[in-house]
Amino acid sequence: MAALKRCKNFKLLPVLAPKYNLQVAAVRNLNLQEYHSKDLLRKHQVSIQDFRILDTSLDPKPISDFKAKEYVIKAQILAGGRGKGYFDNGFKGGVHLTKNPSEILSLAKNMLGHKLITKQTPKDGILVDKVMVAESVNIKRETYLSIIMDRSFNGAAIVASPAGGMDIEQVAEETPHLLKTVPIDVFEGVTDKIANDIAEFLQFKGDLKQKCAEEVKKLWNLFQKVDATQIEINPLVETDDHRVIAVDAKINFDDNAAFRQQEIFALDDVSAMDPRERQALANNLTYIDMDGSIGCMVNGAGLAMATMDLITLSGGRPANFLDLGGGVGQAQVSAALKILESDPKVKAIFVNVFAGIVNCGTVASGIVAACKENPLKVPMIVRLQGTNSEAAKKIMEESGLPVKLITDADEAAKAAVEAAKGK
Ligand code: GDP
Ligand code: MG
Repeated sequence: MAALKRCKNFKLLPVLAPKYNLQVAAVRNLNLQEYHSKDLLRKHQVSIQDFRILDTSLDPKPISDFKAKEYVIKAQILAGGRGKGYFDNGFKGGVHLTKNPSEILSLAKNMLGHKLITKQTPKDGILVDKVMVAESVNIKRETYLSIIMDRSFNGAAIVASPAGGMDIEQVAEETPHLLKTVPIDVFEGVTDKIANDIAEFLQFKGDLKQKCAEEVKKLWNLFQKVDATQIEINPLVETDDHRVIAVDAKINFDDNAAFRQQEIFALDDVSAMDPRERQALANNLTYIDMDGSIGCMVNGAGLAMATMDLITLSGGRPANFLDLGGGVGQAQVSAALKILESDPKVKAIFVNVFAGIVNCGTVASGIVAACKENPLKVPMIVRLQGTNSEAAKKIMEESGLPVKLITDADEAAKAAVEAAKGK
């Protein structure tokens, strides 16, 4: 089974994932840490617990004047299931309660700088460099509430369940009658009736029903204002002092709205990303890591997919999908080559460029520049066709690089497969 992948290019996933057995863990549309999500919730008047943040310096200043009857300490990672997770140092649980303020730092110390392993993280976990210290609430009941963009409704839908706090997939499987999905008409939005129906289904009674309905409407407002693709509150709780509080929050955003949500997108935590994907993102390249041995550098998503097909038909497996894009510059080409070269599973590189807007000369110069800095470690097959291809071939030949220049795409793919096999 292919490793779990995170992918920047949402639109390509439905095509790539089934075809190349990619298990997609998270679409690489922006995913915020809980504390950032809760800042947004607070800004939009959704009820949350007051909180502070500690980091690996273990500087106690942020909590020095933080008074609460009980505290909840939560590891901040971009994955759920923290409560039931465990750390690489043996410490159990990414969510802890304490009434004793002097215990906060020692609990945080067990989490910070360690990897937390949960059902949703990679096998060896995710490094924790921030913990949230929040005022704990006494929970009477946990419910589930989310607003998602759902393709089957061509729009948003609210998903609710009175059985919150746990894995919602499990609820859907074992007790589907406890799950309600309500499509939302984008022009009408969440009406009072919808909000009340949801509150009732979540089993809020008396004036709590009204309080819950208000939270639902505020969350809908937030969903629209920040161009979210998902807001998941699990749990949305009823407290013993008669409040409705969002105890956990996960928000995803639409990448296409990055231009009008710049403040939010600036919060993107790329530290948890695969380093090659991070490099690609920084260089504006579309890159998806895969499990084969042939590193691909191609211009255009269609040709990139066709190249992967050619490789597969020739008996090989692509190590990645990499689209240089249209207006690619020499520096980006060099960056792309470095990304491929840094991948230990890449045994051969196949450059397949059919240039219209792209200039083959730019691609050739980028390759030569990158190879001057870091001599090639694996065989490279290059097919450069289209705009300025003759000049590009000359650049490649004069560079003296040990690359194979092949004009025919099928032949080039076959050569790449042979080279990866060491033939
Ligand atoms: P997750 O495990 O990553 O989903 O983290 P959550 O924030 O959802 O916390 C997990 C569980 O810890 C919740 O379902 C609650 O049962 C419990 N929990 C979280 N915050 C509090 C709190 O303030 N008070 C109490 N009593 N329990 C909490
Ligand atoms: Mg949760």
